[in-house]
Amino acid sequence: MSEKIIYQNQNLECADRKTLEARQLEGLKFSVGQALKTKFYAANLTGHIKSADDICSLDDLKKIPFTTKDDLRASYTDGILATDMKDVVRMHTSSGTTGVPTVIYHTQKDINNWTELMERSLIASGATCADIFQNMMTYGMFTGGLGFHYGAEKLGILVIPTGAGNTKRQLQLMKDFKTTLVHATPSYMFHMATTMHEHGFSMQDLHLKKAYIGGEPHSENTRKKIEEMYNIDAYNSYGLSEMNGPGVAFECVHKTGLHVWEDSYILEIIDPVTGEPVKEGETGEIVFTTLRREATPILRYRTRDLAAVIPGKCPCGRTHRRISRITGRTDDMLIINGANVFPSQIEQVLMNVPEVGTNYMILVSKTGALDKLTIQVEIYSKLFHGDLSELEVLKHKIKDELRASIMINPTVELHEPGSLPAFEMKAKRVIDSRIKI
Ligand code: ADP
Ligand code: ZN
Repeated sequence: MSEKIIYQNQNLECADRKTLEARQLEGLKFSVGQALKTKFYAANLTGHIKSADDICSLDDLKKIPFTTKDDLRASYTDGILATDMKDVVRMHTSSGTTGVPTVIYHTQKDINNWTELMERSLIASGATCADIFQNMMTYGMFTGGLGFHYGAEKLGILVIPTGAGNTKRQLQLMKDFKTTLVHATPSYMFHMATTMHEHGFSMQDLHLKKAYIGGEPHSENTRKKIEEMYNIDAYNSYGLSEMNGPGVAFECVHKTGLHVWEDSYILEIIDPVTGEPVKEGETGEIVFTTLRREATPILRYRTRDLAAVIPGKCPCGRTHRRISRITGRTDDMLIINGANVFPSQIEQVLMNVPEVGTNYMILVSKTGALDKLTIQVEIYSKLFHGDLSELEVLKHKIKDELRASIMINPTVELHEPGSLPAFEMKAKRVIDSRIKI
């Protein structure tokens, strides 16, 4: 029997800072060289950088202006393409729900590098070739499906490429093929658990050991709830299409934050208002620079995602720094009667109330001059059909806990399980009817 692999490349994953930074510098020079071949950066770097030779240390990163989502949109379709189109083997776009999609091209080498990062992530979380992996994320333009698929195959795992949705079929396959790993959004993990009985299955039918949950923000309480419901380990997986997709930052078996693969990305955390770096351990906006990508190099990309670097060393021995889970996006903050509220704060509170089920919605509207916040929560059916006065008590308890966390007084509505919208992919839980489209 072969020994269990715990690193893909121990030298690289546990390299000391100096070695890692030397590698990053090499990568940065390469990326700047590639970037200057693109229409967008040739124009955008004018007055800042003339050639890759202007990069002599990692500090020179500061000479480079930030790249924003709008820059990528304005570069649609090929403004950020550094290679010949004939060398490109695949393209992906972001979901494009908020405007023109952003396009990322990949050469074969880019795909191989991405695959390597995904394989590394799976190994870090304890997956082995003996696992059976059911990939419940959408395939196609969305990067979650293909990204995990290739990484898992490289590790020698049997992949069941179901894609998202069709819960009954997912459960049947999980049962029949003894699936041990799944990849899904946290919302879908909840949806599957709560509809399992309806489809004629129970937890005893499953052989699940781990779930990779990602694609959308979620709290530690949500993770715990998923782990308890299925009796498994759930690992947080973070990525974004602009940086390939999944395989950017991933939790190892210790679940103490997400290791950012720093041989492939430079991580910065900045104050979203001033653009200056925050102190280590403080929350700010994540900024990434690709270090190995040939076709679409991206320099200092403002992700709009908020997180903090976790100080100290991880017991796994990996030296690549860890980030906290994403606590929100700079663009998902709600301003309600002048107070700033992140949907993640609301989720954190709700998932800590044992009576609350797995689904909720956040509604913001206007009544006269004032904003109104309504939180709809599904509660377990036993309770719903119980004593009315108990429901009132519960309603007040949720309301009080929310007020203590977000400093505003919401209206709380309790709903029956299955009555709020369900999500097979990224959940859309906030409906802000103050915004006129
Ligand atoms: P889009 O921005 O169009 O949704 P992507 O599909 O690339 O494009 O989604 C990436 C975004 O999804 C990230 O920037 C982040 O906001 C969110 N996301 C992905 N994984 C996680 C995660 N594990 N935790 C929190 N948010 C996540
Ligand atoms: Zn670790």
